[in-house]
Amino acid sequence: MICLVLTGSTIEENVSQCNRNRQYIDIVELRIDLLHESSRVRAAMFPEMVDIPVILTIRRQSDGGRYAGSERSRLSLMESVLDGNFAYVDIEDDVKRSGAEQKARSKGIRIIRSKHDFNGLPADIYHKISKISAKGDIPKLAVTPNSIMDLITLFRVRTELQSVEEKIVLGMGPYGLPSRILYRKMGSLWTYCSENPVAPGQISAQQMKELYHADKVDERTHIYGVIGNPVLHSFSPRIQNPGFWGINFNAIYLPFLVDSVRSFFILAEMLHISGFSVTVPHKQTVLPYLGKITREVKQIGSCNTVVRAKNLWMGMNTDYYGFIEPLVSEIDAKRIQSALVIGAGGAARAVVWSLRNHGCKVTIINRNTERARNLALETMSSYDSLEQASDYEHVDLVVQTTSVGMVPDSESDPIPGYRFNKNQVVYELVYRPKYTKMLQRALESGCRLLFGIDMLIRQGKHQFEAFTGYHYPKRLEQSLHLEED
Ligand code: NAP
Repeated sequence: MICLVLTGSTIEENVSQCNRNRQYIDIVELRIDLLHESSRVRAAMFPEMVDIPVILTIRRQSDGGRYAGSERSRLSLMESVLDGNFAYVDIEDDVKRSGAEQKARSKGIRIIRSKHDFNGLPADIYHKISKISAKGDIPKLAVTPNSIMDLITLFRVRTELQSVEEKIVLGMGPYGLPSRILYRKMGSLWTYCSENPVAPGQISAQQMKELYHADKVDERTHIYGVIGNPVLHSFSPRIQNPGFWGINFNAIYLPFLVDSVRSFFILAEMLHISGFSVTVPHKQTVLPYLGKITREVKQIGSCNTVVRAKNLWMGMNTDYYGFIEPLVSEIDAKRIQSALVIGAGGAARAVVWSLRNHGCKVTIINRNTERARNLALETMSSYDSLEQASDYEHVDLVVQTTSVGMVPDSESDPIPGYRFNKNQVVYELVYRPKYTKMLQRALESGCRLLFGIDMLIRQGKHQFEAFTGYHYPKRLEQSLHLEED
């Protein structure tokens, strides 16, 4: 089930939140501690105002809530609100023999016994959960994984506590997100979402349902993902997930914040992850764990796609193909013969190698000239310093591969003095914003533009093929481009 945490300060606002999210949710949690004092007295009426099961919660400040009164007043408020027709009540694990508990039991309202840890994982989580469930209540453990190793401990709940059928276990914060999305793989009854996150790492119910189809995950669902640091902003789930549903493939693709690639491979075995994308800073560190790599990974020295092949992990680089595709026919027709590549980082390596392998002459310019020199030596290209950009105004193609111009630095231009001419093709790898400062200037000069977002989508389509063996559904492509416009 998907549970919406209601964050309104009035009863009416919470009814509206319920109605707005109705199609995505199965249950709601009414957080009395977030209500204005004047609305709290009417809270018992709430379950009658919405046609969905309601959990009653009054979270105290020490557990991340806003209830500021005494413990005695909190429990007495809870007892009186339990006059309402609630399906569940959340009572913290350390609250002993309260009137609220007695009333809930007498009315047949199920008790959720919750425990929160905003700093880490308690040492004995498996024991804690089984102890609570022995009382017949539903254990809820919300903890904070601080690494992939912590996330592994959390996912082990599934095998360690198979006998505890009813439980809710979730990881808060950025490392915990996979445990929220894969709540069914954790064996949790439901996952919590909200319009305005009230706990670290909560996402919206719409995302949970429409982007991830989290409530459809079952034993046969294939898991894919993207690893990086940072990674939660990644556009890739919006490419891969709709593609999977478009070909009726029971699979999910989600972001994993990864501090250690080594630990991630342990998690990947544990969850039987079928493949994953790799982004900064792991494109090189992933290499020692791969049993097989393609020619372009070897040349570029970085891998952005890993798939599970028989008994080994295989690494590819789809940036290479996503980049070169719109240029191949023009290079073959000799309309593009020379290129200026700005930058000598990871993306530039894929760009330069693909241009060179297709027979294009390349000059690399970079802030750090030594780095440009090294890449030029490897690829039999030329190099120069960034300041000399204007010496190369005659080239057929300009490719911008640095992060200059990317939000929030969108007013910057890596080659401000460079004069474009209308015969040039100008290719920008930065994809936020779509029109960088440099591209705006190239557009004014009448150049043909190629956008970073289109390259990102093309490389994502290649990843999709590597993951599934199928072409990306044509009818979905248009909506991908629209989404970013
Ligand atoms: P990277 O390996 O860190 O390389 C960064 C490059 O930017 C280096 O050449 C660096 O020069 C240069 N640079 C950074 N700040 C600069 C500044 N203030 N002035 C001048 N040069 C500067 O990063 P990357 O992986 O290559 O990624 C670079 C960009 O490409 C990012 O914006 C990324 O989002 C984008 N990208 C897009 C796609 C796509 O599909 N559209 C794919 C991959 C990457 P130094 O060597 O002098 O430090």
